[in-house]
Amino acid sequence: MAAKDLWSTDPRDALRVGPDFDLASFDRNGQPGWDGDKDDGQAYLPERGEEMSELQERLFAEGREGGKRSVLLVLQGLDTAGKGGIVRHVVGMVDPQGVALASFGVPTEEERSHHYLWRIEKELPPPGRIGVFDRSHYEDVLVVRVDELVPEDVWRARYDEINAWEKELVEGGTTIIKVALMVSYAEQGERLMERLERPDKHWKFNPGDLDTRSKWPAFQEAYADVFRLTSTEDAPWYVVPADKKWYSRLAITEILTRTLEELDPQWPVADFDVEEMKKALVATGEDAPA
Ligand code: AMP
Ligand code: MG
Repeated sequence: MAAKDLWSTDPRDALRVGPDFDLASFDRNGQPGWDGDKDDGQAYLPERGEEMSELQERLFAEGREGGKRSVLLVLQGLDTAGKGGIVRHVVGMVDPQGVALASFGVPTEEERSHHYLWRIEKELPPPGRIGVFDRSHYEDVLVVRVDELVPEDVWRARYDEINAWEKELVEGGTTIIKVALMVSYAEQGERLMERLERPDKHWKFNPGDLDTRSKWPAFQEAYADVFRLTSTEDAPWYVVPADKKWYSRLAITEILTRTLEELDPQWPVADFDVEEMKKALVATGEDAPA
């Protein structure tokens, strides 16, 4: 039996940042648009994953035949928000051939010697691919702003610059989906503690995460400005409650799948005579030539 589709509102409408968005009152434990519970969500997820995977393969085939379209999923969120889980559990449902994944950490010396978009541009998805950014150019107006890594006039100028840059990308055939996973302070505390309590999770913990946590209000303010200043018609932000991992995975899968459905990529038509090829194949016989 098919699992039930319990989306009462398209998550793109339920989660898109509009002019009235208010991060301070945003419920990080919510499940906007989904009328079911966790079990319903977990039952529905693989179905949508399969649909997403087939559409991705079509997009890939289209790209092989000269199509120019691609998708870029930008993932932002503080430590423990679940970016890695989205990569593993959502993006992991599609053929890895069709995915171009890039993670952006502290810039290397070489990267720092270039414009901040230099390292980003190198990782843009080729046609037919779903690019996934685990952190992105937005770090250059988030951690860079909070830690005062450049003067204020420099980071302030970046919002407009990013909007213009993304607009160009969209005009070139890339559909940009920007997702911010917003975890609550209490939930982040629990997830960090779990990383400390479990030896198999120590590798995910970084003492600097506590430093970042201590700057929570400044990061919230920086995120609020990102949403206020860079959620554009061309490349809107979706703010996803991240305290329920099952919900964030379900919602992002749905956003990706519906986006691909609208792109509606088609299987390329063969540029050879299929019937003729069948005859030629039959003529090769069943026994290997001696
Ligand atoms: P993680 O994603 O846990 O591997 O951590 C990557 C770290 O790199 C985070 O602490 C980010 O804030 C940091 N980072 C990413 N981009 C930049 C940037 N442009 N400047 C400074 N730090 C950055
Ligand atoms: Mg980390």
